Amino acid sequence: MSSKIVKRSWAEPYKMKMVELLKMTTKQQRVKAIKEAGFNTFLLKSEDVYIDLLTDSGTNAMSDAQWGSLMQGDEAYAGSKSYYKFEAAIQKHYGYKYIIPTHQGRGAENILSKILIKKGDVVPGNMYFTTTRLHQELAGGLFTDIIIDEAHDPLNLHPFKGNVDLAKLEKVVKKYGAKRIPYVSIATNVNMAGGQPISMANLKELRAYTKKQGIRIIHDMTRVAENAYFIQQREKGYDKKTVAQIVMEICSLTDGATMSAKKDALVNIGGFMATNEWDVYEEARNMVVVYEGLHTYGGLAGRDMEAIAIGIEESLDDNHQRARVGQVEYLGERMIEYGVPIVKPIGGHGIFVDAKSFLPHLTQDQFPAQALAAEIYIDSGVRTMERGIVSAGRKANGDNYYPKLELVRFTIPRRVYTQAHMDVIAESTAAVFERRKSIKGLKMIYEPKYLRFFQAKFERL
Ligand SMILES: *Cc1c(COP(=O)(O)O)cnc(C)c1O
Repeated sequence: MSSKIVKRSWAEPYKMKMVELLKMTTKQQRVKAIKEAGFNTFLLKSEDVYIDLLTDSGTNAMSDAQWGSLMQGDEAYAGSKSYYKFEAAIQKHYGYKYIIPTHQGRGAENILSKILIKKGDVVPGNMYFTTTRLHQELAGGLFTDIIIDEAHDPLNLHPFKGNVDLAKLEKVVKKYGAKRIPYVSIATNVNMAGGQPISMANLKELRAYTKKQGIRIIHDMTRVAENAYFIQQREKGYDKKTVAQIVMEICSLTDGATMSAKKDALVNIGGFMATNEWDVYEEARNMVVVYEGLHTYGGLAGRDMEAIAIGIEESLDDNHQRARVGQVEYLGERMIEYGVPIVKPIGGHGIFVDAKSFLPHLTQDQFPAQALAAEIYIDSGVRTMERGIVSAGRKANGDNYYPKLELVRFTIPRRVYTQAHMDVIAESTAAVFERRKSIKGLKMIYEPKYLRFFQAKFERL
């Protein structure tokens, strides 16, 4: 007798102990809300949102152990017990020697960039991240992209689209000289490429090359555990290793790190800078007092450091990552079933819908991704965000950037939503897809000077 069981499903390695009630809205209420928000999902009130996929940053659900630890926070100004727990967790699981707490990732980027980058330096990296690049530039550096070409192609199925193109790096080194390159900036599970991993083999090659040249590798480890999970699933020789072991190996191939604990580490706020170099640490300890707080709290409450120490440990559990990445994959596969065009392979922290192929009748000047995000909100109260021409902004001469990709980002918070929520999201997107021909473009009626995507307002054409 043949089995009826086609596959065995994953499920969440936790159950619910507390819930947050959501307001259910009518279509009429949502039309009113999005009009008032100028067709910009950033300007919606969160209470008018049913499923919030704006970001996976700081939106994680903490465990009972983390909530319990909040009561044990040692709020001493100096030498807090909670700091030593936090420091020990980072040393134990990531292997870096010296740790500086910061209020979030960009606080660490600010300090590290100021210490390592001199005016006229060049910082090669595997695709830019907004705050990371800005701090490198503010410190006088020039960011150069050295990610493989495949990362810029939404349909290329390369399993490690976060890889560095070593030939591109070599060119940069030849052009500027190793002395002007304080470090290579390596993100794990590259955010701007759609949550795509770097392979261990590539990182090892990069380590060998940078060692020869005397160049550091600084690790943006915001999503290192998600990257480790992909290595376990996809890279030869790693299927028997745990996520925790792979994370440790990744970190051991780098010289220091910046971390936004608001992503992988399962908390709502926090971050740190790490280094294996005493001199850099000493300088950072001086600087953190100026920008964040004393070196044993760095802008965090004792209770925040308690929760991060536990969150780091929980993030390295294989079952957690399987459910985390599995849920994103589940949503992506449902979208594909409905014929919705998405970026492939499916990434670690979200689904990116290709608005150009979704709405081919709209020109880029009619803001297809912005319009699509608004339509999805109207359909079901699901909040997504634009990553296209609005986010790209304007050049110094005032002309619009016309990015190749026009995407709507569906970012999945960790441990927050259920599989039924994923079904609602996929079905809503599919319903909008079925009536795509009737969707009109937008015209911008208010444009802020900086980072316009946050506050721009639109009207239907
Ligand atoms: C979020 C993020 C940062 C910045 O961290 P914040 O905590 O938001 O300041 C840096 N790098 C990457 C890859 C991120 O996703």
